[in-house]
Amino acid sequence: MDAAATTTTGFELSAALDARLLQTAEQMRGAASVVALTGAGLSVESGIPPFRGPGGLWTKYGEPPLDGYQRFLRDPVEAWRQRLHPTEGWAMGLQETLREAKPNDGHFALAALEASGCCDALITQNVDDLHRQAGQRALLEIHGNHFWLRCIECHRRFDPQHFEVDEARLPPHCPACGGIVKGDTVSFGEPIPPDVLRACYAAVARCDLMLVIGTSATVFPAADFPMEVLRKGGAVIEINPHESELSSVATSSLRGPAAAVLVRLLHHLRAHGQAGATA
Ligand SMILES: [Zn+2]
Repeated sequence: MDAAATTTTGFELSAALDARLLQTAEQMRGAASVVALTGAGLSVESGIPPFRGPGGLWTKYGEPPLDGYQRFLRDPVEAWRQRLHPTEGWAMGLQETLREAKPNDGHFALAALEASGCCDALITQNVDDLHRQAGQRALLEIHGNHFWLRCIECHRRFDPQHFEVDEARLPPHCPACGGIVKGDTVSFGEPIPPDVLRACYAAVARCDLMLVIGTSATVFPAADFPMEVLRKGGAVIEINPHESELSSVATSSLRGPAAAVLVRLLHHLRAHGQAGATA
């Protein structure tokens, strides 16, 4: 094994896994359109624990209300006060965790794949903003973004850096349509914003190779995307250290931490000149 196969995370890629990564790079070169689908497993390596399970954010701090969206609609002023000055454990825990998190090598490898034309779109279930911070451009955040704001009427997004919220006049309203503005994160009970969903299905319609990274993709709408690719005869390649519900239907499964596997995959694509100078 050469030095490049030992990654910064300390995970040692076996020769067998490395051979399969080389094969995956070949498949990606031959694909018409590659789309990546990511979930919580990718951000674990950035210090963001999953929501549920041992050590999970909600296990530790308590779960957000299951009717969060209905509560927002009933009392947007109170919901905004909670956003600006959270008092509930889960909201404080999430805010602190996400503020401190930084993109990891996996996020950067995905941004480099995109920059070099090897990945057309990235669909994420994560709300942590780490793909954007890593430089990803064609980014579809199906559960929204923790830091951004969104008009619940026209779905326009607002970068909080350029959107002033007057605490004396809550809730803020959309400068374009006058609708109420809420946090972009999709709350429990809230429909997935239709514009994102449409863009996801458009990307999936073109896709013939999907990388599914750090997620078992069992929850709608993410669950639909790999299935649709498989129905069309495309390939679904799972990158996950653990077996998941997706493993039995995936075309192949690459077992390893997302960052280590993606860095090595990028290396193989670059070695053949496909993910070169621009990345
Ligand atoms: Zn609006």
